Amino acid sequence: MVKNWGLSACLSKNQGSGKISPMKMIKNTFQILKHWILTQNSLTKASDSRRSGMVATILMLLFGGATAFGITPGLSTGNHSITPVIEDITRNELLGVSTPGLYTQQDSVHNGDTLASLLYRMGVDDQEAVSFIRSDNTASAIFRSMAPGKPIRIQKNPNGTLVSLRFPLNDQQILKVSRVADHFEATLVAASESKELLQATGTIYSSLFAAADNAGLPDSVTRQLTHLFSTDIDFHNDLRRGDTFSVIYEASTDEFDQIKPGRIMAAEFVNKGQTFRRVYYATTDGGDYFTPEGVGIKASFLRSPIPFSRVTSGFTTERFHPILKMWRAHKGIDLAAPMGTPIEAVANATVVFAGWKNGYGNVIELRHSNGVDTVYGHLSGFARGLRVGEKIRQGELIGYVGMTGWATGPHLHYEFKINNVQRDPQGAEVRRYLRASVNIAGRAKNQFLAATAPLIKELNAIRGTATAAANFE
Ligand SMILES: [Zn+2]
Repeated sequence: MVKNWGLSACLSKNQGSGKISPMKMIKNTFQILKHWILTQNSLTKASDSRRSGMVATILMLLFGGATAFGITPGLSTGNHSITPVIEDITRNELLGVSTPGLYTQQDSVHNGDTLASLLYRMGVDDQEAVSFIRSDNTASAIFRSMAPGKPIRIQKNPNGTLVSLRFPLNDQQILKVSRVADHFEATLVAASESKELLQATGTIYSSLFAAADNAGLPDSVTRQLTHLFSTDIDFHNDLRRGDTFSVIYEASTDEFDQIKPGRIMAAEFVNKGQTFRRVYYATTDGGDYFTPEGVGIKASFLRSPIPFSRVTSGFTTERFHPILKMWRAHKGIDLAAPMGTPIEAVANATVVFAGWKNGYGNVIELRHSNGVDTVYGHLSGFARGLRVGEKIRQGELIGYVGMTGWATGPHLHYEFKINNVQRDPQGAEVRRYLRASVNIAGRAKNQFLAATAPLIKELNAIRGTATAAANFE
């Protein structure tokens, strides 16, 4: 009689990422709730059960329940002896929601799932439906795309028979299986997504990563954030307790409430009392980041291929080599970072070498414009699909920190070559390459100011709201 309610639905977009912090869980749940409130006008009657289930889940999270349960009638669960923690009282009486005739549920594919086990977990007990999906040409495509983490949404009758099923076969197509009178039909429908601007703000107490996590900022957005301010802030040495950040970024949400983060549109970083701001502005060249005054901030080279690392061995023409046990030039710098840390291309480039070289171990060489090459050594692995001749964008992941070749511990050996001669990546000559800005002036500036004003206004509001909220805590 008892069945797992939609907790996994709330977490589905985290499936496969390994660990989920409770804070992020709550945050994500709220994001989903927010999305719902925005779209509730278009909800069908059947979606009411989904909404009430989700609200119940939120309550359970807030009340500290580690698992979320609800009751669906007419279902035999064999040896699943689960005691309901919060019953329908939460949904029906606290929230005044009436029990609908159909149950909508979302879950996601787990490792080792078969279609039968997945449906069973969602309380569907319908051999006829499973047989149809197996034998139908259109519906059976589901078996070829059941990757772990993929969402599935079903509607079922109280007796556990399937009413409908929606499953994303790929980014463009959703498989829809529906019961029509006494049989089933399978169709493919186009996937839809809605775009919106999301915002987040946080205060740093221990690390930027912890603060970003608390703020519910997706990792890809945090990475963009560090790039945006990397010419002004050294994220390893400059961060202070009490620093704050605010971000407005694009995101698209699909029908399974899976949110795909996109580009940062505006951001603010307050570091040691000093405020830095960036805003995205689309130009005829494709768009770029500027200060609110129209000063270009684009760095032609990133300061470091690993934003959070420290130099353990500098550039020198002479040093005692720990493995070779002899004095030898070190024509690069060593950046200490844990095994597997992602390494980013410091500028747009073409891959000229990706493979093994004596001493360097697994190594990547990138060719940039203006006679500059960069070299990344001792890697544990390469980015998937990386190959010689490939064009790489600045900030793109190229490989992972390791200790292959002559290395005593995990670190990145990084070289910066100008006209084929290694230069000190931290030296003055290389630093001139770090910055190449284009400023907006004249008539274009008025257009720029008008176009970016709403984002700046929004940035002003984010911290104001956060500060007001903190006063009530
Ligand atoms: Zn080195």
